[in-house]
Amino acid sequence: MPAVDPVDELFELTRALRRNLVRHAAGGAWAVQGEPMARPAMPAGEAVEPAEAAEPARAPAARSSKLEVIRAELGECTRCKLHATRKSIVFGVGDPDAPLMFVGEGPGEQEDLRGEPFVGRAGELLDKMIEAMGWTRASVYINNIVMCRPPGNRNPQPDEVASCKPFLEARIGAVAPRIIVALGRPAANTLLGNDAPISALRGKFHDRNGVKVMPTFHPAYLLREPDKKREAWADLKLVMAELQRLGVEPPHRG
Ligand code: SF4
Repeated sequence: MPAVDPVDELFELTRALRRNLVRHAAGGAWAVQGEPMARPAMPAGEAVEPAEAAEPARAPAARSSKLEVIRAELGECTRCKLHATRKSIVFGVGDPDAPLMFVGEGPGEQEDLRGEPFVGRAGELLDKMIEAMGWTRASVYINNIVMCRPPGNRNPQPDEVASCKPFLEARIGAVAPRIIVALGRPAANTLLGNDAPISALRGKFHDRNGVKVMPTFHPAYLLREPDKKREAWADLKLVMAELQRLGVEPPHRG
């Protein structure tokens, strides 16, 4: 029997998920192939406090306005040396009221040209991952830890991250997501304030001031190492199950 290609498996899972998403009318929960998704086991020592009983009412217009204020405050930013080589400041995109946020490390060439995060090949894969979760690019919020392209797609340097981080914090505060998916080690280390490798961080939730963070592999890394897609998909399934547990429904009905 031929070995299953993890790439094909992810896409097949995506298609199956889209076909078989079933919404329970009574409970508001949703299931795959008629069976509710299992709540993920919380790894020992990584327990995150249960969600508060009720989230305060969201005000999308106010959140959108907050993001506009943050963008205006940013201006034509020259706070770090990345400004010298950028073509665009790549601000976040998506739903200002999104309960699910994705944070990458920085814009690449296509993102720099188009002024939007995750629009190159890695972005196409991220879109597929988001859709496999039952969400859409427009219904989540996508951004990076630095908003200007590091030359040659190198990792952002500590001084660059430090200069841009107040604006990342401001966006997180404005959107107020329930869960953040950190894409790759630089994003995870920046959000969690540590220096651990992504392999040690992924696969479990980390608490960040009351917001759950799930580190996983960056889509660009998955393009180079497609065997890792299986682990990334496992991380995203934990996110899906946790959103369900929090009572957050995806907008995509399949
Ligand atoms: S990366 Fe951030 S801090 Fe640096 S110039 Fe761009 S917007 Fe400003």
